[in-house]
Amino acid sequence: MDTYPGHVVEILLVEDSPGDVELTKEALADSRIVNRLYVVEDGEQAIEFLERRGRYTDAIRPDLVLLDLNLPRKDGREVLQFIKSSDELASIPVVILTTSRAEEDILKSYELHANCYITKPVDIFQFFKVIKSIEDFWLTVVKLPRKL
Ligand SMILES: [Mg+2]
Repeated sequence: MDTYPGHVVEILLVEDSPGDVELTKEALADSRIVNRLYVVEDGEQAIEFLERRGRYTDAIRPDLVLLDLNLPRKDGREVLQFIKSSDELASIPVVILTTSRAEEDILKSYELHANCYITKPVDIFQFFKVIKSIEDFWLTVVKLPRKL
C-alpha cells in the first residue's frame, strides 16, 4: 500500500470472539507496516463506528475492515450491506473472516461486494498464518485508496 510518511493503516476488526480478537492483535502487532487496530464486538457497534455515532463520534474512517459474519445484534451481512451501499464507505476494502464454509455465505458475501472471503482455520497456528497473509497482501501488496 501507499506508505507515505506518517501514514498509519487503520484497521477495523468486527469480531465477537475474544480469542480471535487476541490472535488478530498478536498477528498484527509485529507487522512491518505500522497499523492501528480498532475492535468492535457486534454489528450495531460496527455501524455506529462507521457512522461516527454514539460513543464513536471521534472514530476514524478505517482503511480496511476485517468482518466476521456471525455476530450478535446485527450480523456481518448487514454490516457489509451497509458499507457497500454507502457512497462514502463503499471504497473501503472489506475482508470477510468467518468460520462459515457455507456456499451460500460465500456467494452472498461476494454479491454484497465483499472484497474477499476467508474461512478462519480452527487451528490457532493456521489462524495466525492467515492473519499474517492478510497483513502481507492487504497492507503490503495492495494499493488502498488514499484518504481525502
Ligand atoms: Mg462470530
